Amino acid sequence: MPFFDFAGNPETIHRLREMLARKRFPHAVILSGALGSGKYTLALMLARAMSCLEQPSTDGGLPDFCGRCSNCIRIAQSEDLDARFAEAVEARENLRDTDKKETRLFVQTHPDVLIIPPDPPQMMIKVDQVRHVIETIYYRPAEARERVYIFTSSAFMKEAANALLKVLEEPPEFATIFLLTENAGELLPTIRSRSMTFNLGALAVTEIENRLAQLRPQWNARQRALVARLSEGAIGRALSFDIESYVAARNHALIMLKSALGGNEGGHAELFKVTESYRSGAEGREKIDNLLRTLYALLEDLMFLQSGAEQLVRNTDILGELKKMSEAADFAWLQRAADGLGEVERGLRRNLLRSLSLDAFATALERVS
Ligand SMILES: [Zn+2]
Repeated sequence: MPFFDFAGNPETIHRLREMLARKRFPHAVILSGALGSGKYTLALMLARAMSCLEQPSTDGGLPDFCGRCSNCIRIAQSEDLDARFAEAVEARENLRDTDKKETRLFVQTHPDVLIIPPDPPQMMIKVDQVRHVIETIYYRPAEARERVYIFTSSAFMKEAANALLKVLEEPPEFATIFLLTENAGELLPTIRSRSMTFNLGALAVTEIENRLAQLRPQWNARQRALVARLSEGAIGRALSFDIESYVAARNHALIMLKSALGGNEGGHAELFKVTESYRSGAEGREKIDNLLRTLYALLEDLMFLQSGAEQLVRNTDILGELKKMSEAADFAWLQRAADGLGEVERGLRRNLLRSLSLDAFATALERVS
């Protein structure tokens, strides 16, 4: 059954469904949680439960949704938000210049369910988007039982936030507004006080591993264990995790750290081949950000091993290798390495040539070790 598929936070889901059952669902709901925690998935599930034509119930009489009726099917077409968003952006790009400026972005696959994403290039919710919400929200739903509005970000322009506040002061009986946020503190206190907030907390590592066993059977147990530990309790991050590019970045990071610790068989030639590959290019910035994140994660894992907290290590698939490295690296070295990385980051912000600052980092580590 559909709500059964939602990963984690069973008490929160139960409370929301109970309010639906009692027809006491709030007009404005803030769903707060980390990136990938399932806020958008949950909002779309609730939208379907509100308007499902078959109105099934599960878990002792709580409302659910069938996934087959015309309302369920059309609402579900919004599930792939990235794809729908890209289509909306492209459609706007194809407009004449004069129309382009006045067109705001929306995702809509059902006449009564409107999704409001942040509008590029600023990636903020703009006042014209909220105005469109105000223009439509007072009409009764045409085909659903409830009109649903889902704001996928809490980055509101000031004017837009004030406009939203006006709707929240007098929402119509038949409308529900979802506000999704990674940090509810970003929303105006007056918006928060007119909404009910539900938090989606992090899932346990074992729970994510179990979900991955069902949903990503192509990954082996070691890969699932690794991804579960790196996704910080967010099922969406686990499911969309790019193992290949992570392992590629990690191999580079390992070469750098090992060569500094004197344990790299490939020697300097291999090290400079690695740093050389970060010189420039369009995707250069993302590549180096991945490398830096991975370097930090490895240093942290080495720190955990040093302090006898092996259970906290995330890169469990290379535990043996990490243990060997941690024998060569002491606390002071790890501290210097972390400081050195901070310097690389500052250098990047000043736009130093990327490979140069990586070389400086790698050789600086060797000098002190
Ligand atoms: Zn249905």
